Amino acid sequence: MDCLFCKIATKQIPSQKVYEDKDVYAFKDIHPVAPVHIIVIPKIHIESINDITERNSKEVQRIFELIPKIAKIAMVDRKGYRVITNIGEDGGQTIKHLHFHIIGGKKLGDKLI
Ligand code: AMP
Ligand code: ZN
Repeated sequence: MDCLFCKIATKQIPSQKVYEDKDVYAFKDIHPVAPVHIIVIPKIHIESINDITERNSKEVQRIFELIPKIAKIAMVDRKGYRVITNIGEDGGQTIKHLHFHIIGGKKLGDKLI
């Protein structure tokens, strides 16, 4: 499948790894919007939150178990951070592989739109 994040997860395309296990890969965003900007993905291809099912939700559960650990690795766990996932065109999703942005390292703005 021609998916950038599948290729990153399988190391066909290089990335700056922050965390990895058999199900989940986390790496630095190439265009960071804050001092800490990490992308967390399931290794299996799921397009977006819209495609979470009973069959693949274990992987998503695993991501949510790991987000606080990855935040700790990035040293934003104490001061706080934001987790964002974009869905579809109006949601601003550019890469069609489910991913969660971990953004922090500074006091973030309060605007969502
Ligand atoms: P989204 O707009 O939610 O689909 O976010 C996609 C994110 O992936 C953006 O923040 C991009 O900067 C980031 N991105 C795109 N290509 C790469 C890459 N090769 N390595 C790391 N991050 C990337
Ligand atoms: Zn993919």
